[in-house]
Amino acid sequence: MTPCDTNHSPCIACRQPAVRQLADFGPQPVGHHFLESPEARAGFHPMVLGQCDACGLAQLIQPIPPEKLVPRVDWIRYNEPEAHLDRLVDSLTLLPGLNPASRLLGITYKEDTSLRRFQERGFPNTSRLDMVEDLGITNPCAGVEYVQQRLTPDLVPHLRQRHGTPDLILVRHVIEHTHDTAAFLETFRQWVAPDGYVVFELPDCARGFDLLDYTTFWEDHSLYFVESTFRSTLELHGLAVVDFQRYPGPYEHCLVAITQPTERPLPLPPGEGRGEGRSRSSAHPDTVSVAAGVPPAVEPGVSPGGISAGSMFVDRSERKAPPPSAPPGVSPGGLAPTALSAELARVQAFSTGFAPRREAIRRQLMDWRRAGPIGLFGAGHQASTFLNLLRVADLIDFVIDDHPRKAGRFMPGCGLPILSSADALKRGAKVWLSTVGAESERKIVERNRAFVEGGGIFASIYPTQPGHLFTPLP
Ligand SMILES: [Zn+2]
Repeated sequence: MTPCDTNHSPCIACRQPAVRQLADFGPQPVGHHFLESPEARAGFHPMVLGQCDACGLAQLIQPIPPEKLVPRVDWIRYNEPEAHLDRLVDSLTLLPGLNPASRLLGITYKEDTSLRRFQERGFPNTSRLDMVEDLGITNPCAGVEYVQQRLTPDLVPHLRQRHGTPDLILVRHVIEHTHDTAAFLETFRQWVAPDGYVVFELPDCARGFDLLDYTTFWEDHSLYFVESTFRSTLELHGLAVVDFQRYPGPYEHCLVAITQPTERPLPLPPGEGRGEGRSRSSAHPDTVSVAAGVPPAVEPGVSPGGISAGSMFVDRSERKAPPPSAPPGVSPGGLAPTALSAELARVQAFSTGFAPRREAIRRQLMDWRRAGPIGLFGAGHQASTFLNLLRVADLIDFVIDDHPRKAGRFMPGCGLPILSSADALKRGAKVWLSTVGAESERKIVERNRAFVEGGGIFASIYPTQPGHLFTPLP
């Protein structure tokens, strides 16, 4: 990690030129670029943590472009927490104005189970965006990294022609991937019914920051929200938070914001599809030009994500959009001064805590390794961050994962082999570090009684877990 500098970059979320660099972790591999051989090379990208002095939001200073981030295989899937969805959907069905005739829409596959719950509760009018027909994304491996880029106000006429004007839009775990948050949020502000709702969900990074859990970093996430910055970002961009819910999880909490569009103007440059006047009524014209909003048919092989020259999906990095104006009494980024100070201090402490935490982890691993090999269970992105960002791969002997497509491959960056648990048992490791949640961990321990009964230690890499590596369970 190199020392900070004083350059300020534009904020992904509030657009103020106020992002201060806090820590440069150096080039990091894309965590799902599993390798066929230890010598093969994953995609690398700079991982630089910054924080916006205007809105307090922690963010990557150079988010990874979608074409570098897109999975190389089509079997990568991310499971978001779902235990809270029954309660959440129950509460959403009670929102004023929502009824069985309401039009409900989900953005990605992450919304499918919520939409099913709505149907089970008597709300049959559900639909979900189609990657090709709605968003022009033809790469079968593409996911949220492209969806966040495609959802811009230009697309609203096409989306409205295809899906009408939704009364409720579900957006689970996408905002934290955005590279132009203002345009992303403006899309929903314009599209949803004037008295409708947009429901956003994302992971709460507060515990990760406070407990110095550096696996909070994930190259797919450009933004790292806590409750205050989540609320203020939505409000700043014309989405009034009418309800806010927090669902505790084993190692990260889910934050849910239920919003309604306001008429507050957002200065976007011409061509963003904002229309004249920006009132609610003008943002929802009765008639739309279908042809103007139809995504182009993208030929396979044009680019990894299907972007072609002349596409309506223009390169957002070229735009020089002015920042939105915050209401009186808050910072230019939309946060009250006391909340802003608290966030600046929190993320600064997280940044300065990196080196000592890394040293403490290395000491613990070196101590254990004197007794025998160390395995790391779970070849997910948290494992990649733990091995590569914290630079401890030299103290780990192998990674364990029973996913049939992962076992036999090698971790990106460090090149550690991925073994099935049956093969890992033969290696005689004394310690298995876990990168999975408590529930999965219990099942793994059950399935591998021989390891535990033989004196093996099972310890979590997460400080939120009871059996953290500094306090392993007996
Ligand atoms: Zn900002």
